[in-house]
Amino acid sequence: MNERRIQHLKPGFNPSGTYVLYWMQQAQRIHYNHALLHAIELANQYDLPVVVYFGLTPSYPEANLRHYQFMLEGLKEVKTWLEHLKMNFVFRLESPEEGVIKLLKDASYLVMDYGYLRHQKIWRKKVIDEAIHQELSLGIDLVDTDMIVPVRVVSDKAEYGAYTLRPKITRLFRDFRDFKTLPSVINHTNLKLSSDHDLNDIDELLERLPIDKTVKPSPIYHGGYVQASQLFSTFIMEKANHYDESNDPAKDLTSKMSMYLHFGQISSLELLDRLFLAQAQGQIKGESFDGYVEQLLVRRELAFNYVTYQKGYDQFETMTEPWAYQTMKAHENDQRDYLYTKEDYLLFQTHDPYFNAAMKEMVLTGYMHNYMRMYWAKKIMEWSPNHKVAYETIKTLNNTYFIDGRDANSYAGIAWCFGKHDRAWTEREIFGKLRYMNAKGLERKFDIQRYVAKMDQYTEM
Ligand SMILES: Cc1cc2nc3c(=O)[nH]c(=O)nc-3n(C[C@H](O)[C@H](O)[C@H](O)COP(=O)(O)OP(=O)(O)OC[C@H]3O[C@@H](n4cnc5c(N)ncnc54)[C@H](O)[C@@H]3O)c2cc1C
Repeated sequence: MNERRIQHLKPGFNPSGTYVLYWMQQAQRIHYNHALLHAIELANQYDLPVVVYFGLTPSYPEANLRHYQFMLEGLKEVKTWLEHLKMNFVFRLESPEEGVIKLLKDASYLVMDYGYLRHQKIWRKKVIDEAIHQELSLGIDLVDTDMIVPVRVVSDKAEYGAYTLRPKITRLFRDFRDFKTLPSVINHTNLKLSSDHDLNDIDELLERLPIDKTVKPSPIYHGGYVQASQLFSTFIMEKANHYDESNDPAKDLTSKMSMYLHFGQISSLELLDRLFLAQAQGQIKGESFDGYVEQLLVRRELAFNYVTYQKGYDQFETMTEPWAYQTMKAHENDQRDYLYTKEDYLLFQTHDPYFNAAMKEMVLTGYMHNYMRMYWAKKIMEWSPNHKVAYETIKTLNNTYFIDGRDANSYAGIAWCFGKHDRAWTEREIFGKLRYMNAKGLERKFDIQRYVAKMDQYTEM
């Protein structure tokens, strides 16, 4: 593993500790998990067993049944793998940072995986502060395993756009193709630490969790590494070589990996390695290969750069550029020909069949094609009384209904609609210099009726 993935936050070692503790939070997987790898190496070095802890809080910001089900499907697999690999898995129903703190006393070492969003950082800081406060002697390391290249390694500032980030990451990423195999754990001691649920019956667990149950699980997408891996194999075999045409929402040529990446159920580095292998085997060529690498490596990393360095990434007042605020202000009072509410959107009741189809994809399946996400957000901007209301509506719908919502990519994608990482365009009503999109563009470029017909099928499911 490239050493630059690891931040040694607290030097030390607890000689009377009985395990190496890995707090799994962001990277909910076994495969290509550098944090787990680091924990195993430490455990083997000191002849200790590994404890993997996962804390599930019913009050995770903006999460609902759709998200919990997807996540638990993945965690059930994780548990099975860990048992098979002779590691201890502790699954508790509590706020994760509080749960970890309880396990620190008996740990020789703590390994955490890195999470880029604000609340994830606060949780980790709380754990470190508590270890210092209690004068615990254990060492604490933080391992970035969800980015191909850790954000702080690529850049120490907010990047203007893909064009400034691209050369930096292109120089670096080969040094971070650094995962070989997970070593075996030498010490197999079963510590018999209690869990609050065995994860065998997820439905039963979901039933009793006091979570928002208004948004139903996706009938199409299911969580877990196995699903992700199979979906990606199908993508490589049947779609990847046509990825250069994937902008067309009717064609279904994208990989659907965003939801698995969001929950850390698959690693972006594994996807990149598999893509390179496919290229070497002639399964994916030229523009399609470059196009996928651009999204996975450059655009995704740009989103994480954004949430790292733009402190107010999730607030209307602080998420975009000064020129964008100026132009929005200048057009605040422009006449809006249509005004819709969130309820209109959710009932698929606008005058625009393409927008309604996109809403169906979102509400009924938990996913939406990238091109339609842009169109969808731009329409909400056009049909809201002002830009702040539009921002709040987009953010709420995005994070409630998308399985991949509440991600760095959510905030960056939405901010892009409001000018972030984009440029000024020709001035027009409502949008000012922000990029505009219209239905004619969809009709001109794609067989958009096919997309509408496809989404109509979902209403019958
Ligand atoms: C208004 C708006 C809201 C969005 N909300 C989210 C969200 O909540 N969660 C989310 O993960 N993405 C979001 N995106 C980004 C993008 O639409 C999705 O990541 C993409 O559609 C996921 O589909 P896929 O995995 O099939 O993509 P593929 O085309 O197969 O791409 C592979 C991977 O590359 C990355 N990627 C693809 N497109 C983009 C992009 N435009 N920006 C950054 N990374 C990208 C993703 O990690 C994706 O999984 C949003 C974009 C916009 C414009």
